[in-house]
Amino acid sequence: MYPPSAALRAAGIDPQVVADLLDPDHADVVPLRPAPRWMRLLWGDVGAMTLPWAIYVHPDLLTGDPGRLGAVVVHELVHVAQWRRQGVVRFLAGYLAAYLRARSRGSDHRTAYEAIPAEQEARTATARILGGGPEVR
Ligand SMILES: [Zn+2]
Repeated sequence: MYPPSAALRAAGIDPQVVADLLDPDHADVVPLRPAPRWMRLLWGDVGAMTLPWAIYVHPDLLTGDPGRLGAVVVHELVHVAQWRRQGVVRFLAGYLAAYLRARSRGSDHRTAYEAIPAEQEARTATARILGGGPEVR
């Protein structure tokens, strides 16, 4: 477990730039933690998940390419900002409702997931912060 800013610095990303764009005091309000196995079994191919108290990251990401981890952390920090801005209930309700609405219209899992407004915002903000690095989901 360690602060997200450490992962950002290891990737050559200035934590202050991320904080300025997202939420001035949020960069280290939740720690990075390795995702336990049971959590990864529920995820499928997802590399990280942010909950109100921690950013859970696949252990392979924590020990792998720092640049890749940095990009994932930026994406997840957008979700931290969303949790804080909207509150737990509103964030979760909006997230799930958008996903289920897309599924009920016939979208497959991946398409429905990518259409969730919170995910679109996270991808857009991450691309802006990283200046067009690899797209992170
Ligand atoms: Zn996301």
